[in-house]
Amino acid sequence: MSDRVDVLIAGAGPTGVLTALLLADLGVRVLAVDRRTVVSELPRSRGVHARATEVLRRLGVEEDMVGASLPIVPRFEVRTSLADPPLFAAATGGETMSVVSPCEGVTISQDDFETVLRRHLAARTPPSCASASGWRRSNQTPTASPRR
Ligand SMILES: Cc1cc2nc3c(=O)[nH]c(=O)nc-3n(C[C@H](O)[C@H](O)[C@H](O)COP(=O)(O)OP(=O)(O)OC[C@H]3O[C@@H](n4cnc5c(N)ncnc54)[C@H](O)[C@@H]3O)c2cc1C
Repeated sequence: MSDRVDVLIAGAGPTGVLTALLLADLGVRVLAVDRRTVVSELPRSRGVHARATEVLRRLGVEEDMVGASLPIVPRFEVRTSLADPPLFAAATGGETMSVVSPCEGVTISQDDFETVLRRHLAARTPPSCASASGWRRSNQTPTASPRR
């Protein structure tokens, strides 16, 4: 891709990549770079809310995200102690949100979610994601270049 972009996003986590996807689909030349060359496999989030799935559906990401999801319908329970029965319980994912959204909440491990997002961003033309550990920042001007 061209060396020049309109927007350079430092950090290709969920926020950075989703922002890049939205900008790329608006025709903005955008590049998301990350200091990590592979996504972190440390356990982090597991849930994508139905309203977030609406955005991901518009971006064409929903199907792949659902394909990589975990077969779990999340629920929360209120108990006075772990040994006591729940005073209140409710499912928070799956079809629970059908009253307010055409989409479902999805349970997906964050590393799988990030992998799906990055794959979609890399498939945009021009590709808009670079996993580059060797980026250097210029303090004088708003530019960044890969280390040679
Ligand atoms: C243990 C744990 C459990 C969690 N559980 C949940 C949960 O159940 N539900 C939930 O909704 N959320 C959960 N979270 C929070 C969730 O992980 C974050 O909200 C989410 O990762 C934020 O995404 P982000 O893109 O804003 O930031 P990050 O995921 O932190 O992404 C930032 C990216 O920027 C990169 N980066 C940083 N500095 C630079 C730099 N100088 N140059 C280039 N790249 C850089 C990093 O490598 C990283 O890839 C959990 C977090 C942790 C730690």
